[in-house]
Amino acid sequence: MASVVRLFVDHPLGEEQTVPLDRDQAHYLFGVMRMARGEELLLFNGIDGEWRVTVTEAGKRGGVLTCLEQTRPLQRPPDLWLFFAPIKKARTDFIVEKAAEMGAARICPISTDFTNSDRIRQDRLQAHAVEAAEQCGGTYVPEVMPLQKLSQVLDKWPDERQLMFCDEALVGHASTPPSARLRAQPWAILIGPEGGFSEAERVRLRTQDYAHRISLGPRILRADTAAVAAMTLWQQQFGDWG
Ligand code: SAH
Repeated sequence: MASVVRLFVDHPLGEEQTVPLDRDQAHYLFGVMRMARGEELLLFNGIDGEWRVTVTEAGKRGGVLTCLEQTRPLQRPPDLWLFFAPIKKARTDFIVEKAAEMGAARICPISTDFTNSDRIRQDRLQAHAVEAAEQCGGTYVPEVMPLQKLSQVLDKWPDERQLMFCDEALVGHASTPPSARLRAQPWAILIGPEGGFSEAERVRLRTQDYAHRISLGPRILRADTAAVAAMTLWQQQFGDWG
């Protein structure tokens, strides 16, 4: 069976709702995917769940889709934010894609004392998150935040949010996972850049009650691997996997 086309749209979805298509969407559906009037696909918008829709108008520069029925309600991910320091472009793209697949609610690039890259293309990263959600059957798209400074993020840290601080200084040491009692809290994960965390950052984080330092095993992982490993650990302990 050919796989069903699944598309994110920035438009309300609901009973008999019509959805106008812009030029790019029309090109994709009717040019690339060769869809025609009367054919069906799935839409989601990150708010209204997933809908089965039919093509009611197909043109070169636009078109219209009409909602038939909701196929799935919105499934929000757990309240987990991923903080990471951007690395090389392809690896940063990978982190964003994996965060969307693994079920992060928010993706937060940060600059740290040893950050490799001080610029990100927020719109491009957001597009990666959308693509990952389209591909993995997600009904929610995590928001990619603008680049923020770690020190400023910590200055205004929300009281109740817990932080899984992945500290490479603990490599090879046993670390206890955060207590299951903290399951109901909002959470965040923090992954450092290739250069790791500075001593000043580490000292600051060590003194915060909300920060739980953990080790990701006996080997130093690259930041992109560490992000996936940490999200797996977190999902296992607190998440929506089972
Ligand atoms: N250059 C550093 C390693 C940085 S690895 C060094 O050689 O020490 C990039 C990030 O991945 C780290 O900042 C940390 O957040 C995470 N990380 C990688 N391996 C880890 C491990 N074994 N335990 C905890 N965090 C790890």
